[in-house]
Order: sequence, then structure tokens, then C-alpha cells
Amino acid sequence: MDNIKGNCECKKISFEINQAIKYFSHCHCSQCRKCHGSAFGSFIEVEKPLFKYHSGKKNIKSYMSSKYCKRKFCGICGSNIMFFDERNPEKYYVSAGALDGKISLPKAHHVFVGSKASWYDIDDNLKQHLEYPSSYDDIRIKND
Ligand SMILES: [Zn+2]
Ligand SMILES: [Zn+2]
Repeated sequence: MDNIKGNCECKKISFEINQAIKYFSHCHCSQCRKCHGSAFGSFIEVEKPLFKYHSGKKNIKSYMSSKYCKRKFCGICGSNIMFFDERNPEKYYVSAGALDGKISLPKAHHVFVGSKASWYDIDDNLKQHLEYPSSYDDIRIKND
């Protein structure tokens, strides 16, 4: 069983994920860029029951960034912990930047490339989608 640990920058919030990751994306939408303060936000998809907080749950603040998406972040240091999409209620999209240690992840995909920062050029060979891929299933690793 894969065991992945992560925490926010101030370490008040810590968590653990107990699953192999099948979906990894770099999101270039303007909300991810602004919330992460970077060219894109990187996320792994996690089955809700396999994500557990170790500490700091009370320090989490949340924000509805759109009709369906809630973003959770540390109320002290501001680190992005995850977003949650009401249309996909079984999953959490955890910020890859919050993860620690050596983690094996599937190949990432770039999503919402149509909204990417003008000052950033994507120069890798990963698949690019102008918005979300037409189906999430197209880009999940199928091994179960
Ligand atoms: Zn923090
Ligand atoms: Zn985004």
C-alpha cells in the first residue's frame, strides 16, 4: 500500500494518503495560478476515504472559488491543501506541492492550458488540454 505524507508550510496541518495515485495534473487556470502564486497548480486525485488528517484540521479555511469548487488552505500559512469538486464528490484533489518524500506518480497532464500565464512556456512532452479533458477517464491510469 502506498503511503504518502504531506503538510502545509507551517506544519500545523499534516495528512496522509494511503493509495497509489492514478491521476496527476498541472492546472493552468487563472484560479490555480493565483491561489498557488505560480505558473500552475499541481494536483493528485485521491479517494476521499483514503485521505486522513493527522493534525491541524481546525486550522483549515475554505473558499468557494467557483460554483462547484471549494479550495482548502491553511489558515495560518496560507498553503493550499486541496480542492474539492462537488461534481466529483468521491475525490479530493490534493496539492502535490504539499507532499513530502519520494513519491511515485503517473505522468502528469497539463489542463486549462488555454488560460495559462503569458510569461510561462510549457516545454515538456506531457499531454496538454485547453480546458479539462472531455473525460477524466481518458487521463487516469488504468490498472485496476
Ligand atoms: Zn500552515
Ligand atoms: Zn485550476
